[in-house]
Amino acid sequence: DVIQEERLKYLADTPGIKAVTVLFSDLEGRLHMLDYDKKFLIKSYDNLTFDGSSIRGFTAQRESDLRLGLDWSAFYWTPADVFGSGKVLVFGEVIDKNGGHYSGDLRGVLKSFATEQFEKNGYTLNAANEIEGFLFDGIDAERTFHETGKFEYVNQGGYYHSLPGDPLREFIDTTAEVQRAMGFENEKDHPEVAPSQFEINYSYGDVVAAADQIQLYKLICRQVATQMGMTASFLPKPVTGVNGSGMHTNVSITNKSGKNLFWDPKGEEKVSKFAWGFVDKILTHGNDLCLLLNASVNAYRRLDPHFEAPNQIKASATDRGSMVRIPIGNEKSARVEVRSVGPDANPYMVLYSIFKSGLQGNTSKIKNLRQAERYLPDNIYTALEDFRNAEWTTELLGEDVKARYADLKQASADRCARLLGTIVKPSEIQFHHDVY
Ligand code: GLU
Ligand code: MG
Ligand code: MG
Repeated sequence: DVIQEERLKYLADTPGIKAVTVLFSDLEGRLHMLDYDKKFLIKSYDNLTFDGSSIRGFTAQRESDLRLGLDWSAFYWTPADVFGSGKVLVFGEVIDKNGGHYSGDLRGVLKSFATEQFEKNGYTLNAANEIEGFLFDGIDAERTFHETGKFEYVNQGGYYHSLPGDPLREFIDTTAEVQRAMGFENEKDHPEVAPSQFEINYSYGDVVAAADQIQLYKLICRQVATQMGMTASFLPKPVTGVNGSGMHTNVSITNKSGKNLFWDPKGEEKVSKFAWGFVDKILTHGNDLCLLLNASVNAYRRLDPHFEAPNQIKASATDRGSMVRIPIGNEKSARVEVRSVGPDANPYMVLYSIFKSGLQGNTSKIKNLRQAERYLPDNIYTALEDFRNAEWTTELLGEDVKARYADLKQASADRCARLLGTIVKPSEIQFHHDVY
């Protein structure tokens, strides 16, 4: 293919580039990176294998060898002072024995879904994520928490509040600068409501690129924070009593001529019937999807409307306690915002399950979408039960991946409960850093 030829030629012709970092994510969304020497990669790009059995949620021992394909359209230049010199990044896709996308690699699943069912017919699935996080003092704050029992803020600010020279401001500025250098189209950034909390917004993209950018965003934040002697944490609720961190996921769909199919100036909240149908399906599957959007023990601590996070399975234009919000928009920006997502969830899984459910899920028995009949689970054990019992999650992931995912989450929930003593009730489990 053309892009592949171009990139290979570019690599060969550019002496400054020494190595190519290939990125892929495991079933829980943990990012993995392999550095290939450039000369080796140019010769062997179509025959890259790796041991899948050492990647959590991937193959069992007996079928351990997997192949890595390269998605040359997902190619990023990196600033040397942050990523090391002479490297570029390319996202990989995990290929199974038969040459198809491996079912445990959700990036491939998302990509097949988006291209084969929609892009081929001229539709684009758009996503924009608002990723919040905390900046804590010390380079390994999530681990030292276990010894000290607390996180050290680096600033006491609050929403939009920061002074020049403030470490949080410096962190945000550097991160934003790295993003721009890598091709993100930044929009705005600011300290968030809680002390030491940040949010950096950039423009929407098609689903696969958007999910890649979530992985890159977190990678850049962690890298920059570490260089400053700090930790960027994407735990959904690291500190009790203040706002947690969300990863609000904004979605819309455009057709061939670029028309936003979610926009309707005469529609309720100025979005179309089609958009409301999407919302209906998302809410119908609200419980089924919870374990995918809130993927850690800690994520359930965040779902509290007193801290601008949702717990109600309903839609609203204003109420930040609802799972779905319809923000004010225009022809271009009309969209649906899924608020319940935690920033430690697998971004490919999140975008795949939101789009697949919103487009192809079941419609409900919900009479009034604006009134909550159901609430989101308040602990991971309830979410596990909902996930396992749902027929929809089998359709979404297939039996095998569904079971593997549930097993991983069950194991981490149990590990956490053991850590805190066996008599602790699930809802009392406060902190866990198994996933990030
Ligand atoms: N931090 C809030 C959350 O956990 C969101 C605040 C906002 O609306 O930006 O989702
Ligand atoms: Mg925010
Ligand atoms: Mg938002």
